[in-house]
This record gives sequence, structure tokens and C-alpha cells, in this order.
Amino acid sequence: MITADGGSRMGKKVLYKSLVDESLKLAQSPPEKVLIFRRGLDPDMPTVAGRDVDWHEFAAPHAGAQVPCAWLESNEPSYILYTSGTTGKPKGVQRDVGGYCVALASSMELIYCGHAGETMFTTSDIGWVVGHSYIIYGPLIAGMTTIMYEGVPIRPDAGIWWKIVQDHKVTVMFSAPTAIRVLKKQDPAYLSKYDLGSLRHLFLAGEPLDEPTHVWIAGALKKPVIDHYWQTETGWPILSAVPGVEQTRNKFGSPSFPVYGYDLQLLRESDASEAGPDEKAVVAIVPPLPPGVMSTVWGDDERFVKTYFTTFASKMVYATFDWGIRDRDGYYFILGRTDDVINVAGHRLGTREIEEAVSMHANIAECAVVGVADALKGQMPLAFAVAKDTSTLASPEGRKQLEKEVMETVDRQLGAIARPKAVHFVTLLPKTRSGKTLRRAIQALAEGRDAGDLTTIEDPAALEQLTSALAGK
Ligand code: ATP
Ligand code: MG
Repeated sequence: MITADGGSRMGKKVLYKSLVDESLKLAQSPPEKVLIFRRGLDPDMPTVAGRDVDWHEFAAPHAGAQVPCAWLESNEPSYILYTSGTTGKPKGVQRDVGGYCVALASSMELIYCGHAGETMFTTSDIGWVVGHSYIIYGPLIAGMTTIMYEGVPIRPDAGIWWKIVQDHKVTVMFSAPTAIRVLKKQDPAYLSKYDLGSLRHLFLAGEPLDEPTHVWIAGALKKPVIDHYWQTETGWPILSAVPGVEQTRNKFGSPSFPVYGYDLQLLRESDASEAGPDEKAVVAIVPPLPPGVMSTVWGDDERFVKTYFTTFASKMVYATFDWGIRDRDGYYFILGRTDDVINVAGHRLGTREIEEAVSMHANIAECAVVGVADALKGQMPLAFAVAKDTSTLASPEGRKQLEKEVMETVDRQLGAIARPKAVHFVTLLPKTRSGKTLRRAIQALAEGRDAGDLTTIEDPAALEQLTSALAGK
């Protein structure tokens, strides 16, 4: 096992080695040795004699060694990585070696337009699939330099990412909408302070890129911002523009088209037949799955088939569990998760669509909408929103006023049927460590139930805020 003594996040130290020690006590097959890279973050770090090895002592005699490739059969597992745990217990995705290399190599050239000798900056964490694919394997396979940045986009200030782009002449950048929404709350002057001439594209993935955020970042950067859609399971994009092959027009809110290798279909929930243009349906992939996509659930082939391939009785296809729609020009839009649908007095509404509508209000930075049980209507949407300018929230009248305006915005976009029962204002939404809103936890709290498995939550303080907001405090 290889670890550092610790890491740092938002000025807080996280002591990895003590976490490792703890987990090795629980492990059934603990590794013989633990190689520790000391960064000086844990001066009092305890060590286990005979097991713990110091990186510097161990590596010094090997410095500059040429290590040959280890050849593997292409279906050998390369790694297991867990999904984000947004909708339930994280699933252990197993990936192969050969197919993954092929998929990443081709995507580096055709989707990301990254070339040997250039630099890629992916702002993810190597513990997530985006980090595995596009901090580590992808850029290195392409012969690029890769930047691994520890920290958040607003420390020491909101210009740090753009300074990195300037100083390291980054050509390809990859981030997530959640981070862009964080930056959107900061002074936009940070974006014009640095020379971003080297940058070709900014790619975003991980969750829906709402139109106001897309418009804002594309305008501020003056570079093409490409929304693309994928899953931990696929390891690389499912829907994307492919600028290395053809320049296509970007449509706000759309991750463009199915990527080569994917036989994508939009299937009607009722009978698995193919949906027509502008008809909302389940996004499915017809097997064989393209290279790079998961080969099974770790240790459980049956769960792999049962989880992913049994949504439709009449068709054995891979279900993404996302809703999608294709417009008349062939552009795809992701409309949220299949379990994020609520039923208001017989009308089926996607919480994602209501969130889009709430975000149309100029003073809303981000929001989450969930369905809560309602005696009369079955379910009703309930909104939690983060305001950009919080001064209006100082008084109860100000809150009421903003709530009313948000409701009117939703009425205008979707009709009164979608109007939230209430809009609660918070400064923080509960998110997974990869920045996805934990709607299932919000919904549980709103319905007075237990919030469930919270091991994937980033900051538990968000739950306290929700609880107070719900209690009307
Ligand atoms: P879990 O599967 O454990 O519930 P998760 O689905 O959030 O967690 P990930 O694999 O990290 O785990 O996320 C993939 C999901 O993220 C997609 O299925 C989709 O819902 C969402 N997503 C990713 N990229 C986009 C995008 N560009 N637009 C809209 N949604 C996206
Ligand atoms: Mg998922």
C-alpha cells in the first residue's frame, strides 16, 4: 500500500496515515508493507515496525531506474473504482486494461484534442473516475504533462486555476459544473487577470450543466466550453462533441451527441421502444459496450447483469438510469435521473427540470429540488436554494419576497403545477465528495425520515442547515 502522511483541504489537514492504519486493522488481507510519503503534515505519525517503509529511504537507490512494462492480457482487471453514491450504495466498477487504453488514447486525440508535449489540467481527485481517466492514464498515454492540484478553486483566491493555466500553458482543462458554480459566486475579474491564450477547450462533466452557468463560463473564458456526459461505469464520455474530428455548434444545456463506439438509444419506459424527437426516455446503451466501459461489478457478475441490464424485460440493454431527450437537430439533453421523478397530482415532473427553472432567477447560485409526500397531491416539489446576494435574506420579508419571486419564475417556465411548496434558503447543499447533490438525503430529511447512508457526504454541516431550514429557524 502506498500513502502520504496526510493531505490538506481548505486549510484543514487530513491525516491519511491514521486512516490507513485504521482500515488495515479491518482488512482481511492487509498488505505486507506500507510505503509512506512524508509531506511533513503529520510530524507525530506513529509507524509500525517491519511494515511501514519511508518513501525517501526506499526510493533513493532506485532513482532514475528504467522500469519495463508489465505485459497483461487485455481483459485483466486494471482497477476497481466506486461510483459516487449519489443514488444509493456505491457500486464497485471493474475495468479492463486493453480496452481502457484504447478508449482513453482515442479520446485524448479526438475528444480532448490533447497532443504529446502539451499540458492537461483536470481539477478532479484521483480517487474518482475522472481523476483516474484524465489526471492519470489519459494524459500520460497521450504523452502529455498532467497537473495534479490539491485544493479548492477559491484558495488562496478565485484566480488560482487560471494562474495554473497561464503558468503551465495548459491546453486542455477538465472540471465539473459544481466548481464553476462556486467560481460564479466570486469576482469575475479573476478570469481576466491571467493570460489564458494556451487554453483550447474547457470540458465539464459529472452533473447537469445548467444554461446560466454554461453561458457565464463560456462568456468569461471566451473559449469553447464543452459539456460532456459520462459515468464511472463507462470511464470515458458517452455523449460529447468530438472537436478532434469535427467542429460542431454547442447548444447550451446539451452534451451534444453519442460518442463513437456507443450504440445509444432513448427507450420508452413502458415498452422499450425507441422514443421520437423531443420525447423524454431512458438513456440506454445497446451491447456490446464500447472499449473502456466496465467489465463487471467487482466480485459479482450477477449483480452486474441484474443492476444494469434488466430495466427492460423485452430488451437486454445497459441502462444509464438517466432520462434523456433528443431534439430535432439530433442534440441530446440529459434530464436527470430516472429515480428523480416526482408525481404531482398525476403529473410526472423531473426534479432536474424544476431546478433549471429555479436557477433562472438571477439571484440563485444553485439549488436542489426534491419531491416530498403531500396528502392532497401525492407529492410536491420542495426547493433548497443558495442565493448569490444574501443581503436580501437578512429579514423575514426579504426571504418571503425572494421565495415568491422564485416561485413565479418556476410558474413562468413550467407552469404552476411545478411550483415548489416552499423555497428554503441555505448557504450549503449536502453533496458527495465529488460535488453531486445528495437528493436522497434531502428528501429523507424533508419527509422526517432518517437520512440514510451518509458516508459519501462532503460536509455534514449542510445537513444541520437543512434541518434548521425545515424547522423554520
Ligand atoms: P451512484 O451511481 O453511486 O448513485 P453517480 O451516478 O453520481 O452515483 P457517477 O458515476 O459519478 O456516480 O456519476 C454519473 C452520473 O452523473 C450520470 O449517470 C448522470 O446522472 C450524471 N452526469 C454526469 N455527467 C453529466 C452531464 N454532462 N450532464 C448531466 N448529467 C451528468
Ligand atoms: Mg450512477
